[in-house]
Amino acid sequence: MRYRIHSVFFACLAFASGLWAETKVSSVFLAGRTVEYVPGTLPLIIAAPHGGQLEPADIPDRKDGVTTRDAETDLLAIELAEAIARRVGGQPHLVLCHLHRKKVDCNRDALTGTGGNPKALATWRAFHEAIGKARAAAGHGLFLDLHGHSHPAPKVELGYLLSAEQLQETGPPLSALAQISSLASIARTSPDSFERLLRGPRSLGGLLESAGYPSVPSPTSLSPVEEPYFRGGYNTARYRSSGLDDGFFALQIECPRPGVRDTPENRLRFAETLAAVLEQWMAHHAGIRLGITERAGRKGGSE
Ligand SMILES: [Zn+2]
Repeated sequence: MRYRIHSVFFACLAFASGLWAETKVSSVFLAGRTVEYVPGTLPLIIAAPHGGQLEPADIPDRKDGVTTRDAETDLLAIELAEAIARRVGGQPHLVLCHLHRKKVDCNRDALTGTGGNPKALATWRAFHEAIGKARAAAGHGLFLDLHGHSHPAPKVELGYLLSAEQLQETGPPLSALAQISSLASIARTSPDSFERLLRGPRSLGGLLESAGYPSVPSPTSLSPVEEPYFRGGYNTARYRSSGLDDGFFALQIECPRPGVRDTPENRLRFAETLAAVLEQWMAHHAGIRLGITERAGRKGGSE
């Protein structure tokens, strides 16, 4: 039911913004309603692969790998999409897996994530086909994979496909890793050095810390030191730009639970902060101005 409310929210927002004629935002449900895709208008795709709660008995539980759900990351992804829509007047693409991680893992390859079960595979395929559609519609921009961790330190972990060990590098050895990171395409466009893009004052971690959310990497936590850290998984690697630069960059955001995703108030506060931070970060490093993107789209739209 809440997803219907969510779609109605977008519809009302579009109407209030005068976008109704050209922006019909509604959820598309796929694979027996186990995947929800909300098509967007911005060069920003938000995916939540591990927030699902559906546990149909006709799909066997997975026997290998992690099966713990990233609690409330589905709700946080919706809050984030709505917060961005309120800020800039356009909608991110949103892709949610509603099947519990016991049944499918959409942040693994198909066989690992489904164990070969045909129904789980249908969900896995629908999830990735929705991201493929979102990428085709967006043309360029950010793919953001949203997760939740339960590590002892309640930091926001930002995964750019660099390991904790690699993040301990500095200077030229660190810069040499730009091409294998998920930020390869914007490492070329950012006015900042790669090191500052990762953990300078205007890095994602720097901006989040300034707003009150301890993060790693960031100016105060340059790299994870003797603490567990998620570097970014299958989706981040799959949807970054490959060797042929297609204009996409990617990151995995792992959210702690306390103060970030544990209550509706905290989810809203974090979503609004992250929306503001992403707008600023994308404009500075990638030259993508989310509000202007939407305004340009409106000008060019049909009457
Ligand atoms: Zn996860």
